[in-house]
Amino acid sequence: MRMTNKVVLITGAGSGLGEAMARRLAQEGALVVASDIDFAAVQGVVASIVASGGHAEAEHQDVTDEARWTALVDAVLARHGHLDVLVNNAGIALTGSAEDTTLADWQRTQRVNLDAVFLGTREAIRAMKTRGGSIVNISSIEGIVGEPLTAAYNASKGGVRIFTKSAALHCAAEGYGIRVNSVHPGFILTPMVENALAGMPAEQAAAFHARIIDSIPVRAMGEPRDIANGVLFLASDESRYMTGTELVIDGGYTAR
Ligand code: NAP
Repeated sequence: MRMTNKVVLITGAGSGLGEAMARRLAQEGALVVASDIDFAAVQGVVASIVASGGHAEAEHQDVTDEARWTALVDAVLARHGHLDVLVNNAGIALTGSAEDTTLADWQRTQRVNLDAVFLGTREAIRAMKTRGGSIVNISSIEGIVGEPLTAAYNASKGGVRIFTKSAALHCAAEGYGIRVNSVHPGFILTPMVENALAGMPAEQAAAFHARIIDSIPVRAMGEPRDIANGVLFLASDESRYMTGTELVIDGGYTAR
């Protein structure tokens, strides 16, 4: 039980990686507050965690809504007295190159993937600064290396990567005992990847999929639990000396 007595808030927990994180951290004894814009989906995840003996609560949250962040963090503090871990996981992946991305798609991507990570981090610092905590921001390998068809996504995830370091240094300088780290998943089979492929013309999607597998040194996509285990480590006290770092979980994709 590596997360006993820890209150954890995970965004985008109704699907994919966030769902896997919610299940894994609850397995280790955390009380998981699982939020998602899709309330029915996150209610389903929470019901299944509770049915298997875990502690979890579902919350409806659009991570781009600043007032909702304040209200949700206040509600967690009122109910449980403390917040120990925030995982900024919710994200979207719209495809488009630097030439054909619309301004609307660009701005929507930055709002969900980057602005919301800032809002969540700021609220979590407010909640954690008297007793410390761990903030885990989900970036991507695409916050480290470029991909021609995901211009807006690349920019947002690169922003998460370097914003995380800024927040980590601030919290260290203030002596808050709050660690802030980023996680960089490679290609993991979740609805996000399936939808991104579905959003491309069939031929382009087939070529993109083949290129993904060819480009992964271990020649396989990862599974959500591979990322959940990395988040568990950063959320737990086992990583107490880590802050401002990047945990890359990508089957070797960025090693060359
Ligand atoms: P996913 O299966 O699409 O799950 C993302 C969840 O976030 C969905 O439930 C989604 O709801 C929710 N969401 C979207 N917009 C939101 C908003 N404004 N407020 C609150 N929730 C919102 O995606 P995933 O693959 O698990 O990705 C999770 C995170 O990992 C993302 O930040 C992603 O960029 C990152 N990542 C994923 C991969 C990968 O290979 N899967 C690789 C690198 C990084 P809806 O379904 O209703 O939109």
